[in-house]
Amino acid sequence: MTHFLTKTPNHFDLPRRIQRLGELAYNLWWTWNPYAQRLFNRMDNALWERLNHNPLVFLRKIGRAEINAAAQNPYYLELYDQVFADFDAYMKASDTWCARTYKDRCKIMVAYFSMEFGLHETLPIYSGGLGVLAGDHLKEASDLGLPLIGVGLMYAEGYFSQRISEDGWQEAINQPLNFDELPVLPVLDSKGNLLKISVDFPDRSVNACIWELRVGRVPLYLLDTDLDENSPNDRKLTARLYWSDIDLRIAQEILLGVGGVRAVRALGYNPAVWHMNEGHAAFLTLERARELVAAGLPFEQAIEKIKPNNVFTTHTPVPAGNDEFPLWLIDKNLANYWSQLGISRDQFVDLARNRQAWGETFSMPILALRLSEGRNAVSELHGRVSRHMWRFLWPDVEEDDVPITYVTNGVHTGTWMARRMRALFDKYLGPDWLERLDDPLLWNQVEQIPDQELWDVRLHLKRKLVFYVLERARQRWMKGGYHPVQAIASGVMLDPYVLTIGFARRFATYKRANLVLSDLERLLKLVNQPNYPVQIIFAGKAHPADEPGKLLIQEVYRIVKRAENGGRLVFLEDYDMNLARYLVQGVDVWMNNPRRPNEASGTSGMKAAMNGVLNFSVLDGWWREAYNGKNGWAIGQDADLEAGIQDEADAASLYDVLEKEIIPLYYNNRNAENVPLQWVARIKESLRTITPQFSTRRMVKEYVERLYLLASK
Ligand SMILES: *Cc1c(COP(=O)(O)O)cnc(C)c1O
Repeated sequence: MTHFLTKTPNHFDLPRRIQRLGELAYNLWWTWNPYAQRLFNRMDNALWERLNHNPLVFLRKIGRAEINAAAQNPYYLELYDQVFADFDAYMKASDTWCARTYKDRCKIMVAYFSMEFGLHETLPIYSGGLGVLAGDHLKEASDLGLPLIGVGLMYAEGYFSQRISEDGWQEAINQPLNFDELPVLPVLDSKGNLLKISVDFPDRSVNACIWELRVGRVPLYLLDTDLDENSPNDRKLTARLYWSDIDLRIAQEILLGVGGVRAVRALGYNPAVWHMNEGHAAFLTLERARELVAAGLPFEQAIEKIKPNNVFTTHTPVPAGNDEFPLWLIDKNLANYWSQLGISRDQFVDLARNRQAWGETFSMPILALRLSEGRNAVSELHGRVSRHMWRFLWPDVEEDDVPITYVTNGVHTGTWMARRMRALFDKYLGPDWLERLDDPLLWNQVEQIPDQELWDVRLHLKRKLVFYVLERARQRWMKGGYHPVQAIASGVMLDPYVLTIGFARRFATYKRANLVLSDLERLLKLVNQPNYPVQIIFAGKAHPADEPGKLLIQEVYRIVKRAENGGRLVFLEDYDMNLARYLVQGVDVWMNNPRRPNEASGTSGMKAAMNGVLNFSVLDGWWREAYNGKNGWAIGQDADLEAGIQDEADAASLYDVLEKEIIPLYYNNRNAENVPLQWVARIKESLRTITPQFSTRRMVKEYVERLYLLASK
């Protein structure tokens, strides 16, 4: 099993009896264990909430009286002992799935590279689904006992926080993070100095130090160029996630790929599998080839040797969405590389050449596809789309035989499932259900859960969401500079007993946040039906350089502000993992209507399903595989239509299903206790069919069985 290179600091002033809270604060294990969270929030819940669930800051700020009260409270101490018994058992476990299933072969090490990791709201080093998937992958690798290390970048400012102006315009707030307040520790060399690696550009070298972050048993290493010896421009390389300036962007990707491999070496690891989560990390292939060429192998042989160990996961179903660079930028940043590989510039460019109508580019996914033998898309349909999109790279084979398989995404159950849902499963599925999570037979037992109990949990979670929204609105209002209509737009008129639909994700135009608004008159009629009202909560950020995305937010916001929707259309600012948890746990229906087939997989609907929220979605990505006619609803058909026609057809379908199926099912057929029996039946069908299959438990096992084991041969 992997071990951590850094020592846990003990710089909290805590009584001996509860001293290990400091250790817990430095391992994200607490983020997916509700009882560990309780150790913090039981001491001072208001402070815990105010500090955005940051245990490091919490342990520094909490008052003496609260600490002493906890240290003397027998109930608290009992919880404390239980949590640390669980934590120690977890960290030391030798009977993990990986050890049981693969014995010695379980020692194979995987290095997982990603530009972003979504692990917790206090670590804003992610922008959306790609990062959350990477974070969930690490957590699951830890749960399964898979020897895996993560490699990424530590951003000085992180991804931006979002404010919406009165006129609906997105404002991006960038603030430096205080690393001292985050659970990251600098990796030191044997002399106690910062361990550094360097990456060579044609005109300079750039140094980076390495931060270690503990995700259960899995370490994540994050590179940081904000060092005195680097030029101001190079220090900015890790300032922000996804620079739109392509000069910074390519240097960032060189740092991740080349610097990442050098960091792995400097840390003393020798991975058998190199997994690239999206094309951003593809330069790692060149660095691995360079190592072998430097050791005396000819270039062709070096390439053949590295390919089998590389695994590449593509997430982008549209050619325009792919990461690629103009050739002049390649010359400027990588001219020193081809001589080190012993090849010409043309041979180098050939590795990733993409011919476009308007000229040639160096394509990161092509580089990754060419230099990896493990290649996968993230859903069945996305696999098909990817084989079509990239078939020109394999001109001699039929499209169906293009060697790109698929592993459908999943989500980490411990991270996304509400505590109250977990308690329900503890009671009706048996105390070891989380161990057997991906066993479909286990989930037949959801039928045993009494309708009333399940419905009570659902109502509880919706109330929790509404009260959270109200409290956020209050805090924002008290800060000042907030127009009253913005307070209304942010949800102060929400009603916890009304059918509530959630729509939250990045505001990329293909996700069509405005589809449900396309026939406003029809929508408002539904929203305002006196006995059957509906409320819709929107949330999401647009990339700061995505003008159409920001215009889409504005369009939605302007409609949300109108009086005639009765405060039932809502836009919540600053969508992040914390707000995502409240939403996927608290709404009744999770709506997703991307323009098919642009949603490679989508994952937020999986988070919703495990909490008893019903999906209402276009048959794209994962939902096409999950939908069985009884576990949610489909928008539109299982067919590829031209964009304009599709928009119209999907909007019509959306309104029809909402009006004729969803609203009546929610409000009608209630029993004497006011439980909507047919609705609850649908929830059970959704829990039963979706929770085991669309979990990272199933997903990471599939990566091991179908890609990692082959790659490590
Ligand atoms: C899960 C998640 C996403 C991804 O959602 P999609 O449905 O795949 O678009 C994006 N942002 C946050 C904060 C998430 O938690």
